[in-house]
Amino acid sequence: MSLRLYNTLSRRMETLKPLLAGEIRMYTCGPTVYDAVHIGNLRTFMFEDLLRRYLVYREYKVVHVMNITDVDDKTIQRAMAEGRTLAELTGHYTREFEADLKTLNILPAHQLPRATEFIPRMVAGIKILIDKGHAYKTDDGSVYFDVSSFPRYGQLARLDPDQMRAGERVADDDYEKEGVRDFALWKSSKPTDGDIAWPSPWGRGRPGWHMECSAMSTHYLGDHFDLHCGGVDNIFPHHENELAQSQCISGAPFVNLWLHSEHLVVDGQKMSKSLGNFYTLQDILAQGFSPEAVRYTLLATHYRQRLNFTLTKVGESQKAINRLREVARRLEAAPPDAEGEALSPPDEAVEAAMDDDLNIAGTLGAIFGWAHELFTLMDHQQLSPSSALEALAALRRYDEILGVIFTAGEADEEVEALVKAREAARSAKDWARADAIRDQLLDRGIVLEDTPTGTIWKQG
Ligand code: AMP
Ligand code: ZN
Repeated sequence: MSLRLYNTLSRRMETLKPLLAGEIRMYTCGPTVYDAVHIGNLRTFMFEDLLRRYLVYREYKVVHVMNITDVDDKTIQRAMAEGRTLAELTGHYTREFEADLKTLNILPAHQLPRATEFIPRMVAGIKILIDKGHAYKTDDGSVYFDVSSFPRYGQLARLDPDQMRAGERVADDDYEKEGVRDFALWKSSKPTDGDIAWPSPWGRGRPGWHMECSAMSTHYLGDHFDLHCGGVDNIFPHHENELAQSQCISGAPFVNLWLHSEHLVVDGQKMSKSLGNFYTLQDILAQGFSPEAVRYTLLATHYRQRLNFTLTKVGESQKAINRLREVARRLEAAPPDAEGEALSPPDEAVEAAMDDDLNIAGTLGAIFGWAHELFTLMDHQQLSPSSALEALAALRRYDEILGVIFTAGEADEEVEALVKAREAARSAKDWARADAIRDQLLDRGIVLEDTPTGTIWKQG
């Protein structure tokens, strides 16, 4: 079986065929670091993590590049408003972003370049576009891409050519589909930019937002690479413009598959500060939820479906994780000499579902169905030791994709230590101490069960 993914460019499911044997080069658009990222952003980064982890599971070598947008309209406005330097503002939010990724067990990109490190390469690209007749300079020292110079402009977002207002210009980094016009590659310095400007052949200024991803992706991954991802709002104008620039600069095809994740909404509504439903990761953790419960919630809905985020779902996610962890603990404690039945792990079902455009519901369904069978067999001490070992190895393998089971932090280690202390007290016939530890664990919602093969614990 091969991995099939939905390509936004063709609007079809396509088989992933690596350009270099055994290797996948992927580029994912990173955050604009003018503020803390919200859980909507994190949903997109989680989808990309799921994709990357599954590619690794399928034994591809993955080269993953993500950019940090540390200069654009929004970052400049915020830095000016707060009286901070651009580097101070964006450095702060970049560090917070990296910390959030780590908390959520999202694998960091192999390269995480910042836009401001790539200004010379952007300038070089813009020069090529002017030389090839795809861009022009305006009187104020800005440079615009001429959308009429590229007949395939609009291919990704499926723009109506009659609606294009070629010759008219848009200076903003972000704008609506109705406003398709020549867009800014280089913006001449304005008083509102303060001293945030770089030299160029057209005078001092700064790049437009879209140019950075053309420069950074091709620098690390070559002119033509495998995957490009982002949220659906990136399709237009960002990816449409990036595609046009990149193809016009290199003359080569740019990306094989474009993948976009649907948005996250909260309690059925768009997230907004005025509605009071705007969450950062820290907001949710502050309410006592665990990072893995947030991770599970963000990845358990198929990436092309809108995710309705609720705190109830986060609570349910924790229960699902607890169940998988309980299976793991019981498998670890399974007696090595029991007679029992063989039960094979559901690799085929897991892979068939993931191969189908990362059908995570199918994957989780297969894993939980199998976990249920494992529990039943273990309850009756009927699981064969080799199946227990195989099951544990399979759980670890699946968790390379999910990243929620074997991530138990300090809290679980404390529970393990208490369970061991209680077992020691019991063997020393110190019943008072054993009971005191049991009560202490109960206070934390941990229920103990003494089985012939030792004590197992679960989150009650
Ligand atoms: P930005 O910092 O706005 O450039 O966004 C970073 C990433 O988050 C981009 O890939 C966006 O498409 C994505 N994104 C923004 N809002 C949401 C949302 N509500 N749900 C899912 N992804 C989002
Ligand atoms: Zn981008």
